[in-house]
Amino acid sequence: MPVYKAPVDEVLFLLNDVFHIERYANLPGFADAAPDLIEAILGEAAKLCEDVLLPLNRVGDTEGCHRHDDGSVSTPAGFKDAFKKIVEGGWIGISVPSEFGGQGLPSALTQTVNEFLGSANMAFAMYPGLTQGAIAALIAHGTPELQKLYLPKMIAGEWTGTMNLTEPQCGTDLGLIRTKAVRQADGSYRITGTKIFISAGEHDLAENIVHLVLGRIEGAPAGTKGLSLFVVPKVVPNPDGSLGARNAVACGSLEEKMGIHGNSTCVMNYDGATGWLVAEENHGLAAMFTMMNEARLGVGVQGLALSEVAYQNAVAYAKDRLQGRAMTGAKFKDKPADPIIVHPDVRRVLMSIRAFNEAARALVMWTALKSDVARRSSDAKERESADDHMGLLTPVIKGVLTDQGFANTVAAQQVFGGHGYIKEWGMEQYVRDARIPMIYEGANGIQALDLVGRKLAKDGGRALTAFFTEVQGFVKENAGDAGLTLYVEPLGKALGHLQQATMWFAQNALAKPENAGAGATDYMHLFGLVALGYMWARMAQAAKQKLAAGANGAGERMNAKLVTGRFFVERLLPDTATHLARIQAGAASTMDLPADGF
Ligand SMILES: Cc1cc2nc3c(=O)[nH]c(=O)nc-3n(C[C@H](O)[C@H](O)[C@H](O)COP(=O)(O)OP(=O)(O)OC[C@H]3O[C@@H](n4cnc5c(N)ncnc54)[C@H](O)[C@@H]3O)c2cc1C
Repeated sequence: MPVYKAPVDEVLFLLNDVFHIERYANLPGFADAAPDLIEAILGEAAKLCEDVLLPLNRVGDTEGCHRHDDGSVSTPAGFKDAFKKIVEGGWIGISVPSEFGGQGLPSALTQTVNEFLGSANMAFAMYPGLTQGAIAALIAHGTPELQKLYLPKMIAGEWTGTMNLTEPQCGTDLGLIRTKAVRQADGSYRITGTKIFISAGEHDLAENIVHLVLGRIEGAPAGTKGLSLFVVPKVVPNPDGSLGARNAVACGSLEEKMGIHGNSTCVMNYDGATGWLVAEENHGLAAMFTMMNEARLGVGVQGLALSEVAYQNAVAYAKDRLQGRAMTGAKFKDKPADPIIVHPDVRRVLMSIRAFNEAARALVMWTALKSDVARRSSDAKERESADDHMGLLTPVIKGVLTDQGFANTVAAQQVFGGHGYIKEWGMEQYVRDARIPMIYEGANGIQALDLVGRKLAKDGGRALTAFFTEVQGFVKENAGDAGLTLYVEPLGKALGHLQQATMWFAQNALAKPENAGAGATDYMHLFGLVALGYMWARMAQAAKQKLAAGANGAGERMNAKLVTGRFFVERLLPDTATHLARIQAGAASTMDLPADGF
C-alpha cells in the first residue's frame, strides 16, 4: 500500500521562517493562531490523513460510487465514517469567519490541510473542498436570510455543497448555458435544465446537498450577461433549518471515469426545482467566480498534493529496490545490488519532483496569506494589492501546479519501472487521479488565456508591475550576498525572460491576438518558473538565516533545502529560455495550416 507522511515540518518552516506569520498578527483571526495551536492543528490533520483517509484511497478507487434506482448514490465503504471525522473535527470551517460560525483561522491553514487531504485521498477530499467553495460564494454574495439558513449547516458539514455550471453543450463557453429559471410569486424561482459532470452532486455523506446553479432567468439577455446564480437544495429546509420537502432535483446517472472513482460525478436533472437567487439577477457569473477562484486555488493544491504523495512513494521505492551498481563502485557491498537511489538518472527524477513540490507549497502559502490580507485587512490599499496578487497568481497556480503535478506523478511512476504500471503499487492511480485537475475548473489552456488575455493588462498592469517590482527588488537587495548569488542570479535572468515575453506580447499581440493565444501556455509556465524561483530564493535566504542562528535541530533539513534549491535553479529554471523562444516564434507555424488541412 502507498505510504504518506504529511509534510508538517515543511509547512512550519514556511509559516515561521519564510513568511513570518507573526507579521500578520494585526489581521483578525491571526492572533488566535499561536504557533503551538498551529502545530497542534497540523498534527491532528496529519493523523486523520495518514491513519484514516490514506487507507481508503485504494478502496475508493476500486469500489467507486454506485447509483441506485431511486437516484440515491452510495460512496465507497469507509467514506461515511471518515466524513463523520471531518464533521467532528470542524475541518470544513477552520478559516470561515467566526461571525458565520467558523473558527476564523488563516486560510493558509485550510490550504495546508487541503493539501494533506488531497495527498491522502483526493476523491474524498473533494466533498469537503466543494463545500468550502460554496460557503465562500454564499458569504460573499448570499442574502442574510440565505446565509442564516444555509451557512451553519454547511460549515458544520451536515450539508455539503456543489457547483453546477457544465451542460452537455456548454463547458468553457458559459454563455451557452440553457438551464432556465422562472420567477415565482413568492420570490423563489423554478429551475429546469440538465447539468453534467457535477462533482459530489449526489452521495450518502450528508443529509442535504446545496447546489449552486448557474441558469438564465426567462427573458434574460443571451450570453454570460444573462446568467444568474441560484441556491437549489436537494431537500428544501424549513425556516428553522430542519429538513422539509424533497426538491425536484435528482441524479440521473453517474459518469464512468478515468480516476477519482471515490467522488461521484453526476448528471443532475432539475425538473422545476425550487431555487433562490444569490446576488442580483444577471450577475450570477461574477458571484460564481468567487466559488471558481476558491476552487481554482484548491485544484492547484490538488496538483501539488498528488505530486507530493507520488514523490514520497518513489523515494521509498528507490531506497528499497536493488538494481545495478553505483557508477562510482558498489555502495552496498553486502547486497546483491545497490538500491536504485544511487543512480543519477533516478535522482534526477526525484530531485525534480522535490524541487517543484517545496516551491509550489511556498507559492500556495504565499498566495493563501495574500487571500487573508485581501479579506481581513482594514487597510484598503493593502487589500487592493493582495487582491491583485490573487487575481494574477490564481491562473498560474491552477495551471502550472496541475500540469506539473500530473507530469510528476508520471515521473514518479517511472521510478517504479514495470511495477509502477501494476495496480498493486498504487502509482497508476495517482497518474489517473492527477489527470483531472488539469481539466476541470477551466482547462489549463483557458487558465493561460485568462493570465495573458485578462490579468496582465488589468488595471493598467498594476498587479504585474507589483510582482515584477517585488521580485526585482529581492534580486537587487541580495545581489551582493555571496551566499545567495547562486539563487538570485539565475532568478534575475529568468525574470528578464518573463519581462521580455511580456514586452513581446505588448508589441506583437495587440494587432495579432493569435500571437498571444499561441504563446499563452508557454507564458503561464514561464511565469510559474519565475514565481517558483522567487520562492526558492526566499527559502534559501530563510534556510541560511536559520543555519546561522544555530538551526535548532533543523540543520540537516536546512542544508537539504539549500541543495534542493540549487537543483531548481540549475536544472528547472533554465526552461524559461525555451518558453521565451517559443513565445517569440509567434503564431504563424501554429495557425498557417487551414482547418481542413489537418
Ligand atoms: C471529473 C469531472 C468533474 C467535474 N466537476 C464539475 C463540477 O463539479 N461542476 C461543473 O460545473 N463542472 C464540472 N466539470 C466540468 C469541467 O469543468 C469541464 O469539463 C471543463 O470546464 C471543460 O469543459 P468541456 O469539457 O466542455 O470542454 P470544452 O469547453 O469543449 O473544451 C475542450 C478543449 O478546448 C479548449 N477550448 C475551449 N474553448 C477555448 C477557447 N475559447 N480558446 C482556447 N481553447 C479553448 C479547452 O481548453 C479544452 O482543452 C467536471 C468535469 C469532470 C471530467
